[in-house]
Amino acid sequence: MADSCLLCRIGAGEVKVSELHRDELAVVFDIPEGYPWRQAPVHFLAISREHIPSAGHVRDEHGPIIARMFVAIAKVAEQMGVAKTGYRIATNVGDDAGQTEHHLHLHCLGGRKLGAKG
Ligand SMILES: [Zn+2]
Repeated sequence: MADSCLLCRIGAGEVKVSELHRDELAVVFDIPEGYPWRQAPVHFLAISREHIPSAGHVRDEHGPIIARMFVAIAKVAEQMGVAKTGYRIATNVGDDAGQTEHHLHLHCLGGRKLGAKG
């Protein structure tokens, strides 16, 4: 764990967030209403508990972590009522994509019609 990494600290439970799911590999949490990052009526993040800098750093041995993140997202999407209406999973890699936290996280957006690009 990198001490300076916010998402590692959330993964370790040191920084309190509105958790929707937690297990030994992944944490899912809600982005609170009114928070500038929030881009849709439903917007939550899935993070790996292990520090992986981005999707560009995923290796074969991370397979169980990545699978768990997707399984947790599907469970939370069901809880949030967007499993049937649909949702988007997105991740940014590097500066040109606007990655601000350099720890693997998947944005999950739903609750409204999303355009093809946003
Ligand atoms: Zn980290």
